[in-house]
Amino acid sequence: MKNIDVCFETLKAQCKEQGLDPLSIPAFKDTLDMYELQKKHSKHEKFLKVVNHFFEKFLSSMKGVPILTATTDEEGYMILLRGDETIKNTINQLGVKEGCRFTEEVNGINAISLSLKHNRPIAIVGSQHYHHFLHVSACYSVPITDPVTEKILGTITFMTSVDHSSPLLLTLLLTMKDSIERELQLLRQNEKLNIMNQLIMDTTRNGMMVSDKAGKIIGFNHAAEHITGLKKETILFQCINQLETFTPYLKNVLEEEQQYTDVEISFVRKDGQEMTVLFDALPILDEEQQTIGALAQMKDITRRKQTEQLLLNAEKLAAVGQMAASVAHEIRNPLTTVRGFIQLVKEDFKEGSHFHLVLDEIDRINFIISEFLVLSKPNVVHFHTKDVKQVLDETIALFQAQASMNNTQIATEFGNNELIINCNDNQLKQVFINLFKNSMEAMPFGGKLTIRVNQKGKQAVSIQIIDEGEGMREEQIQRLGTPFYTTKETGTGLGYMIIKRIIEQHDGMLDIHSKANKGTAVEITLPLAVGALR
Ligand code: ADP
Ligand code: MG
Repeated sequence: MKNIDVCFETLKAQCKEQGLDPLSIPAFKDTLDMYELQKKHSKHEKFLKVVNHFFEKFLSSMKGVPILTATTDEEGYMILLRGDETIKNTINQLGVKEGCRFTEEVNGINAISLSLKHNRPIAIVGSQHYHHFLHVSACYSVPITDPVTEKILGTITFMTSVDHSSPLLLTLLLTMKDSIERELQLLRQNEKLNIMNQLIMDTTRNGMMVSDKAGKIIGFNHAAEHITGLKKETILFQCINQLETFTPYLKNVLEEEQQYTDVEISFVRKDGQEMTVLFDALPILDEEQQTIGALAQMKDITRRKQTEQLLLNAEKLAAVGQMAASVAHEIRNPLTTVRGFIQLVKEDFKEGSHFHLVLDEIDRINFIISEFLVLSKPNVVHFHTKDVKQVLDETIALFQAQASMNNTQIATEFGNNELIINCNDNQLKQVFINLFKNSMEAMPFGGKLTIRVNQKGKQAVSIQIIDEGEGMREEQIQRLGTPFYTTKETGTGLGYMIIKRIIEQHDGMLDIHSKANKGTAVEITLPLAVGALR
């Protein structure tokens, strides 16, 4: 790009023709107000930032020289003016300041308008200016092109006195132009890269964390927020020490260049949720293989882990069931023999002996064993109609002795009408016994156990079992029915599983309300037998 050969005589003649007075000081038109100037500033933010960088360097090496640096936009508006304060003040008085606009119509021959018009570097020195008051000054302008759109962004300009004029100033501006345009291009490429990085970070379901060399967190995506329960706003630009469980891993990556792949990490989130992730981390290296940061990735495998655990429990349960079944058989066989013999011996004794009691007890043992077998194999269950209150009465009778030993008062609120349900009463008794036992165990120092029966709507009956024991927290309630979930030293954690299974078989519903240290209310809703209503 070369300075065009400007024919100043022709230009001056044109100015005269337009009616410009060479002896006047022209008043600027269209000067921007503060608000409009600010808008231009933000529109050209990157351009100005880059230009400013070079201008500052230049000005600091030109201390003491009366020189001003300026930037205009593509319309000739001066959007940046920097330099020697004294001459800045002088030209301010002539209206030259940020926001003013250079045009040929108003300012006659000027470097800014000409360089924009011809897309060329322009130097106008001393008497080459049309207006006489400018004959003491020298102006140099070079247009800047947007590296992407290839449109003119504006100009960069030097203004100085004739005494300090030099063709080198234009050469300097041209060098700056090259650097500025290259810098703008790089910025644009980085932006693109950033956008792409952001896209990848935000669309992946893997949690991603990035830190710089100093251990400052510079990337933290949505998935990472979700998995760790940490908020991006509070984490970003903080030290990796904030990453809790993951801190030591990232430290090792940064300090020892250690790499991790598929490390299974379990941790508890702030909200109490137990999480398991597969974790990868590795150092980010530059071209010289120097560590400039760390990248960590984590994949949420909590679900998979839970399923594995459930399967494991199911297997355990199956094993327990099988064992129960075989043990039960082993007990039942000799028992049958014993019963047969007692039956025989009984014949030889007269009425009033206690053999019937022994036989009753053996029958009960047999019954309990069959109940036990219910657990181990899904055998066919026979249903019959029975008043639910009768089932409860019979269960309470079984339970009474244990209750009084434990100082538990059983209060029944049954009402008078019959409530007939279709059920297998032996199975229902198992449910009630399990519930009574749980309540009693929740009240180790005794207390009141309320058993309430009510008709619910037209087709159902509600049985409530209410204790004033230690109660449960929400997450405990959630876990009820999970095999082997127990908080008791000698508990089996099978009670609720049996309860749920039996209630399900009876087309019933289970509803649990509980408050820690207050007590627990369990409500069972069962359908009334068809035709049982009167
Ligand atoms: P187990 O009684 O063998 O522990 P369950 O399935 O019957 O197994 O109960 C599981 C757990 O639920 C208990 O260990 C206890 O923590 C809790 N739980 C059940 N019922 C109650 C209750 N009425 N009050 C307080 N906690 C209870
Ligand atoms: Mg229990």
